[in-house]
Amino acid sequence: MDSESIREIERRALEAIAGAGGKEELEEVRIRFLGRKGEITAALRSIGTIPAEQRPAMGKLINSISNRVTASFDKKEAELSGASAGEEPYPGDPTLPGRRRWKGGLHILTQVTNDIAGIFKGMGYSIATGPDVELDYYNFEALNFPEDHPSRDEQDTFYINRDILLRTQTSPVQVRYMEKHDPPVRIISPGRVYRNETPDPSHSAEFFQMEGLFVDTDVSMVDLKNDVTKFIKLYFGREAEVRFRPHFFPFTEPSAEVDMSCFACQGEGCSVCQKTGWLEIMGAGMVHPNVFRYAGYEKDAYTGFAFGMGIDRIAMLKYGIHDIRQFLKNDLRFLGNFWKQKI
Ligand SMILES: [Zn+2]
Repeated sequence: MDSESIREIERRALEAIAGAGGKEELEEVRIRFLGRKGEITAALRSIGTIPAEQRPAMGKLINSISNRVTASFDKKEAELSGASAGEEPYPGDPTLPGRRRWKGGLHILTQVTNDIAGIFKGMGYSIATGPDVELDYYNFEALNFPEDHPSRDEQDTFYINRDILLRTQTSPVQVRYMEKHDPPVRIISPGRVYRNETPDPSHSAEFFQMEGLFVDTDVSMVDLKNDVTKFIKLYFGREAEVRFRPHFFPFTEPSAEVDMSCFACQGEGCSVCQKTGWLEIMGAGMVHPNVFRYAGYEKDAYTGFAFGMGIDRIAMLKYGIHDIRQFLKNDLRFLGNFWKQKI
């Protein structure tokens, strides 16, 4: 045993480790060199047979070789483990059918809002929005509601303080928009509104409205009838008939309530239309000159019309829903019935 033959063992060991093609082959190499009867182990044991003065140097040499071979072995073993990880068989049953991802859908009120807005967008309207927490000024005063109007009563309105409230209608968006934009103005404004109501199948303390406003130099009631009728026919069907009944709203003059013929009975009279043959769809009218004044428009320069409808009511009519409270319950058994638009 001399240092030359010891280095020869190292050279062969490193070569064998490098050439090992798999874990089993590598283990054979380990046993051959580092095992209990391995060549390096045998070399260490043979130290006792050499002259005493050569033992320390020889011991050091064999130990360093043993360390290098062990390190090389560990490195190779790690390499082989890493390479084989990707070849591990899939732990489950790859022939099982895939799991369907749960997608959900749009809330029915969102769908109805989108559908209605889509029709008006096609007629040249754009969408405007305003805050839910509104000033009394925009919700009532600038819309020409007199000081003593019953809807200003706290029994109907959620007041936060004397000047701030939860909007009871989407109409304040009209004034906010006109303050910032000169005519022509052609907007719709969908949004949530709040009333101090005790909830029952036809009343809710929060629901949705959509406001419409068209202002220009020569807008008349004919334009109002045209746009409203077009919307009703596009949304409910060509056969729908439309009628205007005189009504009163503080912010329009003249004002009208708009009915359409009952689609359930074609005007014969049924439970949907409460035997009248007609369904009330929206309120509308020509913008009151006082509203233009509050908006800062030049006196007598413009005319316009406004209309407003309850989105919940439209949805109930269109889809035969009998309880407005369903919209806020988040009951997936109810909402899932309307998931035609998957998201
Ligand atoms: Zn009917």
